[in-house]
Amino acid sequence: MAPCAATQDQTSREDRGFRVLELRLSHLWMLLEIENLLRLQEADKEIRRLRDEIAELPKRVAAIEHKLADTKFQLEKAQAAVKADEASRRKYETAITDLRSKISKYRDQSLDVKTNEQYKALLHEIQFAEKEIAATEDKILELMVNADARDKEVKAAQAELKAETAEIEKEKIEAHQRTAEDEKQLTDWSGKRDQMRAGVNEDLLRHYERVSKFRGSGISEVLDHKCMGCQVMLRPQTYNDVRTGQQTVVCDSCQRILYFNPAHEMQALEPEHKRSRRHHPKIDAPQAWYYRQEFADAGEVFLCLTNAAGQASRRVFDMHTGRLVGDILVREGDFRHAFPEDITGAIRLNGNWTEREMETWGTEMPMTALDSLHTDLEAARYEMNSRPSTKSGSPTPISTEQAAS
Ligand SMILES: [Zn+2]
Repeated sequence: MAPCAATQDQTSREDRGFRVLELRLSHLWMLLEIENLLRLQEADKEIRRLRDEIAELPKRVAAIEHKLADTKFQLEKAQAAVKADEASRRKYETAITDLRSKISKYRDQSLDVKTNEQYKALLHEIQFAEKEIAATEDKILELMVNADARDKEVKAAQAELKAETAEIEKEKIEAHQRTAEDEKQLTDWSGKRDQMRAGVNEDLLRHYERVSKFRGSGISEVLDHKCMGCQVMLRPQTYNDVRTGQQTVVCDSCQRILYFNPAHEMQALEPEHKRSRRHHPKIDAPQAWYYRQEFADAGEVFLCLTNAAGQASRRVFDMHTGRLVGDILVREGDFRHAFPEDITGAIRLNGNWTEREMETWGTEMPMTALDSLHTDLEAARYEMNSRPSTKSGSPTPISTEQAAS
């Protein structure tokens, strides 16, 4: 009997050992799958980028070619304008020659006239022709002035065309090289992707691909209790499942496969006030919020002191429940002089709600208000502890109320 029992005992111990090992292995396998999925996602992203780039290059070349055609058109237009001007000039020159021969004809005729009337008429014709010559010469002059500008236009268009032609040749060569390079990389990444896919369970892979197709990514990190893919908060149980990594968990809202990176979570947990500076309350504000560690029998409280119409009022809230403690107390004067004993040694906080808002609270402040006071208190404490002390014996020189007043 004895040896048998010992064997049984040993067997169950081995069993347990195997089960633990199995669990560990399945955990490791899970991590490996997540790792593979992440690499797969990276490969998918790179493949998408490369394909987009390959598709984009001919469009770029087409755009430059379009620009080139436009420049060509501008050049042709400028050259046509030059030609038109030249034709006009020739027309005007012919007109002047005609007018001159007319004048000489009139002059000849004037030698043979019999009457004064006839002579006057011819003189008038001559004067008219001379005027017309002058006007036509002006037009020629104008064309000559314009010709300079037209010439510049043509030269500029020619230079632009030359530069663009050179550029498009360069771009085409580059696009060609880039496409070849992209295609090579695409082959590499496709190979890598196939390798990653082989390292992932088939069902998981199918899920990943389905979500990835619709959302652009199929796996998402969990940070600060949130799915980073869709920014939705996870339920506590889901969050725990992701953290322990014993099983595959997908986001309820976006269906992405979730994973957890402890190193990132530590950074996310850094309180916000460590990352950004705290806003400081104004000393002369008509309303001031304070935190007191001890207040009569109430323990830790938030105090709200408000100045209005020459009077100061004081509300006291339990800092844990947000419930109003006692009655609202009103005294003459501003709160600094009306409630000095409450302010001394208290921590000044950020908070500002109108009298009307606070009336709607009744006997309990809403969670949002309570949360914001807690957050600010945490930030104020952090600030007090991290500020290097300038005066010995005064570790919190600015944030407490004495220094502020
Ligand atoms: Zn999600």
